[in-house]
Amino acid sequence: MSTCSSSARPLKIGIIGFGNFGQFLSKTMIKQGHSLRATSRSDHSEVCKELGIPFYRDMGAFLESENEVVLICTSILSLSEVVKPMPFDSVKRPTLFVDVLSVKEYPRDLLLQVLPENMDLLCTHPMFGPESGKHGWQDLSFMYDRVRIRDEGLCSSFIHIFSSEGCRMLEMTCEEHDKLAARSQFLTHTIGRILSEMDVEPTPLDTKGFQKLVEVKESTVKDSFDLFSGLFIHNRFARQQVQSLEEALEKTKQKLQERMESST
Ligand code: NAP
Repeated sequence: MSTCSSSARPLKIGIIGFGNFGQFLSKTMIKQGHSLRATSRSDHSEVCKELGIPFYRDMGAFLESENEVVLICTSILSLSEVVKPMPFDSVKRPTLFVDVLSVKEYPRDLLLQVLPENMDLLCTHPMFGPESGKHGWQDLSFMYDRVRIRDEGLCSSFIHIFSSEGCRMLEMTCEEHDKLAARSQFLTHTIGRILSEMDVEPTPLDTKGFQKLVEVKESTVKDSFDLFSGLFIHNRFARQQVQSLEEALEKTKQKLQERMESST
């Protein structure tokens, strides 16, 4: 495993997918002095104007705009339809492609298939978002896997964006990430969605524990349903979690039933 030095320099970063999370990341990158531009399915030119960065409607023109780093922030579900038709001939220099999708084996495999061989690939997952990161990124986790890196300096400079904000840097494989994230992030989102289906709301006699449950519900439903379903569809370890959850509910019901029968 090679280490990344803490080399910092301003980078030309092009963001594909300028929704909730793309915009959130861009604010810190602009603050750090990087030069940004964006493209997206929808027209985000007004937001870009406010941020003082160019917005490209056309993917070809965006790719021609001399990015050193192309940062993919599209939804998990749309990744394939976004990257498969990309006109890679328009990329005029070896470029570092980075994705931030909340699942990791899927974008790694797809990007290795579609990217030209001379493009580097860094797969990442910032384990925070606009809510948890609204007061800064200090002590929030940043996972990364240096899948295909030849330009070490460029990769280090990109990673430095997160380490310099105080993130907990976690280098691990995409497979390790997906295993762990299914048991933690996906489980949290699933419980949050279940609580939302149950219309769980604060009551006048909330315990601390219940307040935490309401918080879980509220923070998960702020993320799009596309994001939640992407966590399930494109993480092969997530299915097992749903099954374990069902089995655990059954076992718990059974234990209660047995106790009720023995106490009557
Ligand atoms: P999201 O619903 O997962 O993704 C929204 C983005 O996907 C928007 O940029 C949207 O483009 C684009 N998109 C959706 N459908 C599309 C389609 N059919 N064709 C082209 N583009 C499409 O919400 P998000 O929170 O912004 O997340 C973006 C990515 O970051 C996801 O991969 C997510 O897993 C990852 N991530 C999110 C968080 C978080 O806290 N939110 C944290 C870490 C990683 P338009 O806006 O142009 O319509």
